[in-house]
Amino acid sequence: MCGKCCRVATASVGYEELLKLSNEGDTSAKEFLDTFEPYPSLEDALNADEATVKNIPDWENRTFYHCKHIKPDSNLCPKYEERFDVCRTFPTSPWAVTPPGCGFEGWLFLEREMHKKRIRQLKEEKIYYQAKLKTNITNKEKGLYEKLIKQIDARINLYDKYGSKDW
Ligand code: SF4
Repeated sequence: MCGKCCRVATASVGYEELLKLSNEGDTSAKEFLDTFEPYPSLEDALNADEATVKNIPDWENRTFYHCKHIKPDSNLCPKYEERFDVCRTFPTSPWAVTPPGCGFEGWLFLEREMHKKRIRQLKEEKIYYQAKLKTNITNKEKGLYEKLIKQIDARINLYDKYGSKDW
């Protein structure tokens, strides 16, 4: 209820690309642009909320947006019940960048730890299967363990960009 993510939003692609995607029928891009409008300049975004802007990686090269709907004198959403998916599902990942002091920080931390714990369990399972491969097993068992190891590696790789190899 701080309104920061409504007043300082950004997207992984630039404004021109968002417009193009929206015109091509991409519903996420369209919904984003139906909800947010770009600040005229980076300076305007900094004036709105410098700490939130500077908390976002590569902020100097991004376009920032503010919600068209939020009331200037309130942090409450005037469209809360029928708010857009882009708002309803934020933050969409435990690794989402949220404004400093965001009420989701605790939840994000717990979610990240849960994912890390699961990946560590999978690594233990992998060690077990690797050990099994060194024992006297049938070809069928060998195929099964190799398949399981591949599945585990694929799962770990999903989180590679978050550092899963070091968890
Ligand atoms: S529609 Fe509501 S939740 Fe979404 S950005 Fe605007 S004020 Fe925030």
